[in-house]
Parts: sequence; structure tokens; C-alpha cells
Amino acid sequence: MSTLPYEIVVGLEVHLQLKTRTKMFCACPNRYGAEPNTLTCPVCTGQPGALPVANREAFSLAMRVGLALNATIARSTKFDRKNYFYPDLPKGYQISQFDQPITADGSLRLSSGKVIGIVRAHLEEDAGKSSHTESGTGSLVDLNRCGVPLLEIVSAPDMRSSAEAIEYLDALKLLLRHVEASDCDMEKGSLRCDVNVSIRPPGSSVFGQRVEIKNLNSFRSAGRAIDAEAARHHALITAGGAVEAETRLWDDEKGVTRLMRKKEASQDYRYFPDPDLPPHHISEEWINDVRKTLPELPEQRMARYQRDFGLSEYDAGVLVQDKKVAVYFEECAGLAGDAKAAANWIGADLFGWMNENKQDLDASCITPARLAALIRLQKDGTLNVPSARKIFAAMIGNAQDPKDLVATLGLGQVNDRDAIMEIVRKALAANPKAVADLRAGKQKAAGAIVGFVMKESQGRANPALVNELILEILPTL
Ligand SMILES: [Zn+2]
Repeated sequence: MSTLPYEIVVGLEVHLQLKTRTKMFCACPNRYGAEPNTLTCPVCTGQPGALPVANREAFSLAMRVGLALNATIARSTKFDRKNYFYPDLPKGYQISQFDQPITADGSLRLSSGKVIGIVRAHLEEDAGKSSHTESGTGSLVDLNRCGVPLLEIVSAPDMRSSAEAIEYLDALKLLLRHVEASDCDMEKGSLRCDVNVSIRPPGSSVFGQRVEIKNLNSFRSAGRAIDAEAARHHALITAGGAVEAETRLWDDEKGVTRLMRKKEASQDYRYFPDPDLPPHHISEEWINDVRKTLPELPEQRMARYQRDFGLSEYDAGVLVQDKKVAVYFEECAGLAGDAKAAANWIGADLFGWMNENKQDLDASCITPARLAALIRLQKDGTLNVPSARKIFAAMIGNAQDPKDLVATLGLGQVNDRDAIMEIVRKALAANPKAVADLRAGKQKAAGAIVGFVMKESQGRANPALVNELILEILPTL
């Protein structure tokens, strides 16, 4: 395959910190950002004789994710010890699930329509966090993260490009946020991903040797790492070498992967059932209870917006990207009595302001009710489009009622026929060339007249009325 193009094969492992109140096996709070080593106890710091007790809430959240991914929930599941040495793991082993994961055999549909297989998702505990002093003289360890519940979601090697891998990550994150299993904040480490990359000749059904890459702190890094690693494999094979089973680290600055260790096989971890934790049986009743709490999922919501509100696939897709935005939209659409207008204002003006100012939805002081009031002012003819935009801009950071703002700023649309007719006459007198063109049937010439009227009226004239009056007066001139 040396001179031939290659196909990339990608599988992803996503580690998700579950949003439980307490840790996976003890009663310590599961909270980010506390003073180091203040959220610990004998269980999560691995003291001799301390006994773990599994967190029921973590099971429920894992089941929510499993059900949202169309996966099977195991009726019987257990925990195993995964043995390895690392300073941030005081017990010398991580409690994980080896051969009986809580959920398996799911799928996730991408926005392209392609379905990616979910092999399994298992519960485990997070490790602590070590950091190294700047002088290089020592290392520090914070054990607050020890024992935080994790769900490791393993995809099938179904993705064929870095773009598709990012599409998968976006779709997964959207789903996870909807089911409120995690806050999915990559900066705080509550969502982390490892990628498995291999290459093969296009059309081949045999997998190449895969390499795992860790240390990816954004979806963008994951995409770059996949492309860089695939290119490394291609160069190796082209030169007559072979790809080895390895775990590598991504260097985002240099844009290369570096060898971390030769890949362990699962026997290197000497997995065995944790004797301190009994096997868990999950009843049909419990699964059904969790199923009942599942909210509407993004894909279902999108279909409903298209069906009930007549939105385009694109508009619906934009609104369901964030559950908060979707809830905002529905409230605003209901109050305004116009879903399409609400979608337009949110998609264009509100998002525009949020992106430009790097602000959250809540920071704008434009509540769904206030945006709906603005939309109604536009619908009842009080405001034309340019004036409505001016009111919108004034509403940001100003809690005044939109109606009052119209009065304060003097932006009410002028619908007075006589007043507008007067300006239209003035406009026609000032634009003899446009008048001649109009008479000759050149409809485009009306633009100059309308523009003049809008300028004269400081943007307040009702444009529909202006057009109507031009046509009315023209034959009489
Ligand atoms: Zn603890």
C-alpha cells in the first residue's frame, strides 16, 4: 500500500465523570475545585481495612446513558480490580468492570445519518491528580478526584476520518448533556477521550495495527492527533516498517504523538473480581424507573421542531445543540405565537451577540418573555426590521420593557399614510431618474425611492406601506 491512499479507522473511548452527589464507593462529596486533599476518606485514599460501598445514583446515571444510547442494561454486573502502580492511585488498583459492564451493545446516530456502534460502557472510579513542581524538585498529589465515578464509553471502530470522530464526539456530548449525566466540561476533566487509530488500504476488511493516543484535551486536538498518527503509520509502512501496539501521548504544541509505553494487554492488569463488592443485580423495575426519567433526546426534539413548528432541519439542529437554548426557544415561541420568528431571532441575533461577546444565554438579560414581546411588536406593525434590531441591541443589559424602549428611543414604526405620503412625494421629486425608470417598468428603481423615504424617516417608515404608496401615486404624477 506504499504509494496508495489509505483509509483511517478510528474507535473512541470516552471517560465521563458522572454528576453524582458523592463518590463511587464512599460518602465523600463529588465536587470539582475544592482545596487539594480535603474531599477524602479512608476508602478513597486506600487505607487498609476500609470497605467500598457502590453508589446507587452512579448506577442510575450509567443506566440513563445506556438507555439513551439504545444499549442493553445488564441484569447482573460486577466490579473487578485493575492492578497497576501509579502515585495518584493509593490502593495500587482501580475498581473497574472487566467482563460484566453495566451496559453494552448500543448505537449513536450522527447528524450525517451514519450509525456508530457502542461496544460497551462500564463504571469505574477516577484516580487522583498529580502535578509536578516548576523547579522539578518534587511532585504533588491531590486525591480529591480519587473515587469520582466514571463511565467509560467504548465505541466500535466505525469512524473513517478525523472529521467523523469529531462528529461522533459532538453527538455524544450533546446526548450526555441532555440526559444530565455529566456536565461534560473538558476543561475540568469531566469528559476526556482517548482515540484508537489504525490505517488500511481502502476497501480492505482487515484492521491494521492500532495505536492508542491519550492526553487529548479538546475535540480539535483529537482530530489533529488522528490525522498526525495516521500519517505516521503511513510513513512507517511506506518505509518498510511496521506499526507497533503502543500507547502514545499527543503533543498539541508540536502536533506530534510521542511514545508513552508499549501497550499492555489486559492480562498485564491481572483483573480479578473485587472481593469487597458483591455482584449487583439490576431489576427490570429499576430499569423501567430510570427509563421514565429520560428526557426527550436531541434527535426526537429535532424531529418535533420540524414537524410541529415547521422549522428547517438546519434551524431545528441549531436549537437542539444546547438544552438550555431549546427550553428558551420553546418558551419564547409559545409566548410570541410565532416559532419561526423566535428561531430566527435566537439563531441570528441572540447567538450573534453571545458569540461576539463570549457570553452565556443568561447574561443577555433578554428573557424568553422579553424577546417574545419584541417579536409581537414587530408582528403588530409597531416596529419594522431595522428598528426591531435597534430595540434588540438596547435590550441587552437593559431590563426595561421593550414597549417602553420603543417610546424612549422613538423607534415606533410610522404607519400614518398621510405622513408617509408626504415623504414619498418628496422622494419622487428628488429622484427624477428613478421615477423615469419606474415608468419604463424598471421595478428595481423603486429601491432608491424607498431608501430615500427610510432615510428621511430615520428608518421608521413601514416599508410595505411605502411601496404601496409609490405605486399608488406614480400614475398620478
Ligand atoms: Zn472518600
